[in-house]
Amino acid sequence: MVKYELPKLPYAYDALEPNIDAKTMEIHHTKHHQAYTNGLNTALEGLSSELQNMELTKLLSAIEKVPESARGAINFHGGGYDNHTLFWNNMKANGGGTPGGRVDDAIKSVFGSFDAFKEKFAKDTTAIQGSGWGWLTYNPKSNKVEFITMPNQTSPRTKGLVPLLGLDVWEHAYYLKYQNRRADYVTAWWNVVNWDEIEKRLSKAK
Ligand code: MN
Repeated sequence: MVKYELPKLPYAYDALEPNIDAKTMEIHHTKHHQAYTNGLNTALEGLSSELQNMELTKLLSAIEKVPESARGAINFHGGGYDNHTLFWNNMKANGGGTPGGRVDDAIKSVFGSFDAFKEKFAKDTTAIQGSGWGWLTYNPKSNKVEFITMPNQTSPRTKGLVPLLGLDVWEHAYYLKYQNRRADYVTAWWNVVNWDEIEKRLSKAK
């Protein structure tokens, strides 16, 4: 059986300062992402070898194949593992700005303009009740991008969507620096978005 390991961050803990502080990044990575990694490995132990050996992204897309007794744990810890891996890589130092190429075209065709997309993404993600994520996704059925919010760690893959850009709004992602000011965290986060990575994800998904 594959044992998942905590993936390395593609940059230093302080790389996203001042938008996301180093202490938050360190705890988020070494404690929270590690806990999802451990939880995923434990949940996989109870599955058939066929499911154990499935790529995690495929397993999340086929979550209904997981026996009910383990489904909640795979959904939560497997989603948490995948979501955070995507999250670290959809940020970078000196990121932000506007997307180019296919992502720009895809966003404009659905949302009208980049600013309209940003406004919807920020508003609806900030408004999530409790813990969850905001996502720009690609829907292979419609060949269009879609915005969606997901509760807790449930992956957009469980709805047949390919995650492109994710924003974690669990309190653990921002509370040390922003306390209850989630909207300020969301505003600052745009400065670290890695649009080149989103372009790669969209090209791979199409
Ligand atoms: Mn998190």
